[in-house]
Amino acid sequence: MAEKEKAKGSSDVLDLEVVQAFHNMHPSQQKCPVCGNDDWWLLHDEKGNVSAIPWATSKGEVKAFGLPLLTFFCNRCGFVRQHFLDAFKAYMKELRKDE
Ligand SMILES: [Zn+2]
Repeated sequence: MAEKEKAKGSSDVLDLEVVQAFHNMHPSQQKCPVCGNDDWWLLHDEKGNVSAIPWATSKGEVKAFGLPLLTFFCNRCGFVRQHFLDAFKAYMKELRKDE
């Protein structure tokens, strides 16, 4: 239970509202820039954890954390599209205000 509550508040856990918001974006924002497909697969594990970019300094010191990402793959040509999760959530809220 405690683990679930912790996961809920974590910014690297996927929330279905964000995924739905992606699918509700304007069609021109959903098209793959390589092949024009608009069907994407989202990378996450069974608990809804998304991927992250590992953090390292310019001196090569690797830190034990990363920036959470939404990583989508075009299911036709394999093009990879990534959004920093927190910025994407903020953008989705901004779009909803305009509706
Ligand atoms: Zn594509």
